[in-house]
Amino acid sequence: MDTVTCPDCGEECEINHDDGAFYTEDESEKMQCEHCDKYFMVSTSISFYHEGHSAPCLNGKEHDWKEIHGYPKEYFEGKKRCSYCDEVKDFLTKKERVEKNKALQ
Ligand SMILES: [Zn+2]
Ligand SMILES: [Zn+2]
Repeated sequence: MDTVTCPDCGEECEINHDDGAFYTEDESEKMQCEHCDKYFMVSTSISFYHEGHSAPCLNGKEHDWKEIHGYPKEYFEGKKRCSYCDEVKDFLTKKERVEKNKALQ
């Protein structure tokens, strides 16, 4: 049986592969603990070893926004990615983003 330890309560949770989830390497997927009902992220390595990462932002807490460094620089400026859930947010206003896109052309 494939299980992952919940980072919040430490209980073993069964992983449901029915929809092909949790088979993508280097991609974290969200899952809900069957014991404490909290959400956390599960990352998968090539050996299909599963590891649970605490994700406070999935349980009503703030995201942990980190700057994204990439190329072209203008494209990533003002954008941040949450270190817990991988969500990306644009911190620029629509107008500022349009200006940036103009600079890209
Ligand atoms: Zn739990
Ligand atoms: Zn988050």
